[in-house]
Amino acid sequence: MFARCGVALPKVEETLVQEVLIALAKLSQIDEDARSYDEELRDLPVTVAEMSANVATLEAAFEAEREQHQEAQDVRQAHREDMVSRQDSLARARTKANQASNVREMTAAEREVDTNRRLIREREEDASKLDTALEVAAQSLKDHEDKLAAFRTMFEESKKQAEDRIAEVEAMRAKVIKGRDEIVAVIPDRVVARYERVREHKGSGVCLIETPTCICHMAVGAQMFNDLQRGSDIHQCRSCSRYLVWAGWLPQADDSAESADASATESSAPEATVAEAHS
Ligand SMILES: [Zn+2]
Repeated sequence: MFARCGVALPKVEETLVQEVLIALAKLSQIDEDARSYDEELRDLPVTVAEMSANVATLEAAFEAEREQHQEAQDVRQAHREDMVSRQDSLARARTKANQASNVREMTAAEREVDTNRRLIREREEDASKLDTALEVAAQSLKDHEDKLAAFRTMFEESKKQAEDRIAEVEAMRAKVIKGRDEIVAVIPDRVVARYERVREHKGSGVCLIETPTCICHMAVGAQMFNDLQRGSDIHQCRSCSRYLVWAGWLPQADDSAESADASATESSAPEATVAEAHS
C-alpha cells in the first residue's frame, strides 16, 4: 500500500500509537459535531446579558426622566404657593391703600399693590409655560413608560426563548459528546492538554488529512505523511500545531458501532494498515 521506512516500532508500542490516532480522529469529529452547539451555548448567554444591560439602561434613563418631571412638578407647586402668598400681599397692600391717612402712605401702598400685581402676572405667565411643559413631559413620560414595558416584555420572551434553546442545545450536545470521556481516556494526558490548547486557539485541535497538506496549507513532508498513514508516530503540524491524523484512521460510519473492537476487524483501511505494517 505504501513504502515502509524509518525504524519500525515494537508491535505493542505501534498499536498503542494507532489507538491514540484513532481516538484523536474520533475526538476531533465529536468536537467538530459539538462545535456549533458550543458556540451557541457561549453566545446565547452573552446575547441575554446584552439585552438585560439594554433594559437596565432604558430603566435608568426612564428613572432620570421621571425624577426631572417630579422636580418640574415641585417647581410648579412652589409657584402655586408663591402666588397664594402674593395674593395675600396684594390684599394687604390694598387694605393699606384704603386705610392710608396721608399721601405718602397712599403712594407707598399703591406702589406695593402695583409690585404685587406685576409679580402675580409674571408668576401666572411662568405657571402657564410650566403647565404646558409639564403636559408635554407627562405625555413623553407615558410614551417612554409604555415603550419600556413593551421592551421588558420582549426581553422576558427572548430570555425565555434563549433559556429553552440552551436546554435544547445542551441536550443535543450531550448526545453528540456521548462517549467522549472514554475516548479521551485512551489518549495520553499531555496530548489531550495540547489538543485542547490548540482547539481553544484554532477552533480545532486535529487536522484529518487525506493529502500531504494541513488545513493551514502547510505541506506535510513525504516521510511524515508516510508515518501518518502507517500510524507509527504522532505528529503536530509545524505551522498551526494541530495534531495531524490521516483520515483513514477515522472509523467509517457503518462500522463505527463496532469501533470499540475495531482493531480486531479487517474491514477498514486503518486495520489493513496495521496488518500490513506488522506482517
Ligand atoms: Zn497546520
